Amino acid sequence: MSQKVRVRFAPSPTGPLHIGGLRTALFNYLFAKKNGGDFVLRIEDTDQNRFVEGAEEYIVEALNWCGIPFDEGPGKEGDFGPYRQSERKQLYKSYALKLIEKGKAYYAFDTAETLDHHRKDHEAKGKTFIYNWHNRLKLTNSLSLSNEEVKEKIVAGEDYVIRFKSPENEELLLNDIIRGEIKIDTNILDDKVLFKSDGMPTYHLANIVDDHQMQITHVIRGEEWLPSLALHTLLYDAFGWEAPQFAHLPLIMKPVGKGKLSKRDGEKGGFPVFPITWNQSEGYREAGFFPEAVVNFLALLGWNPGTEQEIFSLEELVNTFTLERVNKSGARFDPEKNNWYNQQWLQRKSDDELAQMFNAELDAKGFSAEPEYIKRVVSAIKERASFVKDFWDLSNYFFEAPSSYNEKAVKKQWKEGTPEIMNGVTNILENINDFESSIIEEKVKTWISESELSFGKVMPPLRLVIVGDMKGPHLFDIMAMIGKEESINRIKTAVARL
Ligand code: GLU
Repeated sequence: MSQKVRVRFAPSPTGPLHIGGLRTALFNYLFAKKNGGDFVLRIEDTDQNRFVEGAEEYIVEALNWCGIPFDEGPGKEGDFGPYRQSERKQLYKSYALKLIEKGKAYYAFDTAETLDHHRKDHEAKGKTFIYNWHNRLKLTNSLSLSNEEVKEKIVAGEDYVIRFKSPENEELLLNDIIRGEIKIDTNILDDKVLFKSDGMPTYHLANIVDDHQMQITHVIRGEEWLPSLALHTLLYDAFGWEAPQFAHLPLIMKPVGKGKLSKRDGEKGGFPVFPITWNQSEGYREAGFFPEAVVNFLALLGWNPGTEQEIFSLEELVNTFTLERVNKSGARFDPEKNNWYNQQWLQRKSDDELAQMFNAELDAKGFSAEPEYIKRVVSAIKERASFVKDFWDLSNYFFEAPSSYNEKAVKKQWKEGTPEIMNGVTNILENINDFESSIIEEKVKTWISESELSFGKVMPPLRLVIVGDMKGPHLFDIMAMIGKEESINRIKTAVARL
């Protein structure tokens, strides 16, 4: 039997989850669910200096809001916990020592000052200082010192780190599901620190040990980790472990210009870059996006179904997603298109659900109406809306009489004779008992032709006085909804005011 698919999302709790991080989580989720596997959340909090209070809770909330909860992780213990690296601390050192035993890693005692000195010295000569095969024997470490000297230093409590001994003169063949084979000359690699003097592992060591221990089969992460793939592959080799398969997702690019999407792009362009509001930065949730829309646009950032289909539910995504259809090249972020996705998802919501959401807004504005009425309003205007927050502007005239009239429209539509025509309409309306759209329409139209008026003389000004503007759905529907008395009042008010 083949191994059960297990993937992990491994954020560091150093701040809010960026929308790109959420996409990484989503692709992991989709891959896991497509393959009947497990989706693990692992919190990579070994760097205590960068720890941000509340970040972990934020990540969990964002995943839940999108409907992509993890199967195992903090608070959902499975067989591979704990799932916070800070709680696994005691584990990592023994692995670093194992590598030293195997001759794959070494102690290094160089102080920060010495290394800094080397760095500056190199810089001055236009070179870059790399700690690796070409100079490691000139530095202070267990490769250049005798066993005795090393022991002495350790016993004396001198600070040390444990570095990986990158191999010399090897051509390394890396494999990535999205990018294929990548060749690397090991001579360009530096001897990365695996274990720090503060007793904590670095990201590289903890990440590999945990992926191995948690039986992760596929590592799906952002392209920014591609440069670490060589080291990670070497580490699996050094431990004698089978490496998981890797897939590095393309970067998410700025809407215009070059480079990676950043927080500043959002500030400049007026669109969110976080799923949920964080401090002063509005999130997609608070901006009125449906989680379905966010999931939908994120899925298409870098993945393509190979068809023209654009609207995907989470379930459809699970069924169609493959890593083979993820592109190598960066995916341009398109805030306009994201709005379109929301508009599409809004149309798919039931009027009941939308009415409930709208009701909350109406409440806040101090308006109240029967649920059935709100539902009818929503059904009449939702086609023109991308967000529930657009509803009020599209429908205020269903709840209150216009307080002003569009000036341009007044100039164009309010002519000599218009007040008399409007009085004529009022007379007709007054005699309608069954104030239904089709009946009002029939009566008004009959009156128009009998009085030898034109439609253009009656309907546009009538809309103007009822709505305050030239917008809105079928006018007789609006009149039927606001009712006879209100319709007549609005006409009378306008005749008096205009
Ligand atoms: N902790 C890393 C991050 O913050 C995880 C990278 C990986 O998935 O290996 O993105």
